[in-house]
Amino acid sequence: MASFNPPAEVTEALAKIPPHHLNIMGYVDRSEVNGPGARAVLWVQGCLRACPGCFNTASWSFEPNQIVSIDDLVARITGDPGNTGVTFSGGEPFWQASALAEVARRVKAQGLTVMSFTGFTLEQLQSPSAPVGSQHLLTQLDILVDGPYVESLAIHEPTSPVSSKNQRVHIFNPALKDRITWASDQIEVHILKDGGRIVTGYQGHLHLSD
Ligand code: SF4
Repeated sequence: MASFNPPAEVTEALAKIPPHHLNIMGYVDRSEVNGPGARAVLWVQGCLRACPGCFNTASWSFEPNQIVSIDDLVARITGDPGNTGVTFSGGEPFWQASALAEVARRVKAQGLTVMSFTGFTLEQLQSPSAPVGSQHLLTQLDILVDGPYVESLAIHEPTSPVSSKNQRVHIFNPALKDRITWASDQIEVHILKDGGRIVTGYQGHLHLSD
């Protein structure tokens, strides 16, 4: 089976992230277009896929962007009573699977749900070649949306929870079976205190602007 090990420079960049920390691209509270209900969204920094048509090319680099501690993330996610859960997007969440599994375990202990997007397939993540920590993260997830974005298979429908036809929604928590309330074509704009904006929802990704 093919190995999913990243190139050496990516391995080195991942190794520079301090223990119990994550390298992220962005974060918002109370998004309603990235999973069921109102939820925090964490965009992880770093992706190797370079999918044509990617809405989030700034997330591709593995260089340090925002280095945040797991403690701070858990406090922020659980500190907003409007969040019913957290969604991991990217970038590729599973390159930082071990740290995200720890975030997931701690927020689930406080009654929240956890969802993740990934460019891998579920079968790849269940294989021995999966990125380190993938099994731990999978066991924490309530929902997984898997598969890369394929521009030639793009879906632009107001009710589709995925962006391209190859992607699948895996609901591991039966309580969420009827909660596919988000759609990939929905867009949400968050106005930040410093005047910046975060536009999110389209393809599960985000765009930062001043
Ligand atoms: S669409 Fe997602 S998986 Fe593809 S390059 Fe962009 S961030 Fe990576």
